[in-house]
Amino acid sequence: MSDPTRIAARMNSLDASGIRKVFDLAARMTDPINFSIGQPDFDVPEPIKAEAVAAIGRGFNRYTVTQGTAELRQAVAKTCAAEFGWDEDMPLLITSGVSGALTLAFLTLVDPGDEVILLDPYFVMYEHMTHLAGATPVYVDTYPDFTPDADRIASAVTERTRMLVVNSPGNPSGRVYSADELKAVAEVAARHDLLVISDEIYDLFCYDQPFASIASVHENTVLMRGFSKSYAMTGWRLGWCTGPRAIIDKMTTLQQYSFVCAPSIAQAAGVVALGCDVSDKRDVYRRKRDMVYDALAEPFGLIKPGGAFYAFVPAPEGTTGTEFVERAIAENVLIIPGNVFSRRDTHFRISYATSDEKLAEGLDILVSLAR
Ligand code: PLP
Repeated sequence: MSDPTRIAARMNSLDASGIRKVFDLAARMTDPINFSIGQPDFDVPEPIKAEAVAAIGRGFNRYTVTQGTAELRQAVAKTCAAEFGWDEDMPLLITSGVSGALTLAFLTLVDPGDEVILLDPYFVMYEHMTHLAGATPVYVDTYPDFTPDADRIASAVTERTRMLVVNSPGNPSGRVYSADELKAVAEVAARHDLLVISDEIYDLFCYDQPFASIASVHENTVLMRGFSKSYAMTGWRLGWCTGPRAIIDKMTTLQQYSFVCAPSIAQAAGVVALGCDVSDKRDVYRRKRDMVYDALAEPFGLIKPGGAFYAFVPAPEGTTGTEFVERAIAENVLIIPGNVFSRRDTHFRISYATSDEKLAEGLDILVSLAR
């Protein structure tokens, strides 16, 4: 007899048990110091909100064309023309967040049996999307300082390799790749005819060096950026994606039959967002990054993260990341164990997108646990 509630086999590969365990523990906490949240603690800048409200008011509430509104596409293309010198007629798809772009890209590009190279630690979605596509993640270890070592990447390449995923500034590491590091990775990618997915969602949050994109040195790059982190629009679901025209065309076809389009209201507001200067937010997060580094460098051996709003901190000697997280949660500090983002269970992730008071309080507790 068939089971009407049967779940497709591909879903067996999606395992949320690691993070669920943390959230189960967290559910018992009252008013925790929450270092687990992967989103900005500031609100959407006022002009962006105003434009969203105005868009609703003027009836901009219907489907847009699948590829995204002409206005937003033009605004994005202008930023790319300024940054990369690209033609404004570049292939471009407006997506439902970078998550939407990743989903479309993996389903469009990856076949069962393929291998996808991930730099460990990695943003969890890459691993799950690889599995969902029936492919196998191949992990390249980047510990202890999260350097994207070109030789290690080269030795992970096989005849089944489909693509390499790069994420700088990185979640969970906060690592920013330099232009030279990206050039070395691009050389490996070119030598092996690799497609690169470059997730640049934290591009505006670089604290010590200018942001660099592998897209400027490797042609076969699918570049993704979003509005969630830069403008705190996480709930508005807006991102964009560019790359080789044949790929963007197929992703657009898939979007037509899945997401249909990114939210119309968010697209209208996105045009305004691209004109907003958020460098004051970057300065605030740089200062918070310094607070984290000053507190945790010595007791934990934390290497200074250069971007995003995360620190990926080694657990004290003789303790796994999971064990340390359990101890921190018992002291009312919510952090995420490294094995959620990695093959290793040696680290924990802090998001420092929180108030200075909470940050100072939580850092004191973590330091006392280390001692
Ligand atoms: N990529 C990275 C590295 C992220 O950290 C996140 C969100 O945490 C995303 C993509 C997804 O972002 P979006 O809200 O644009 O879907």
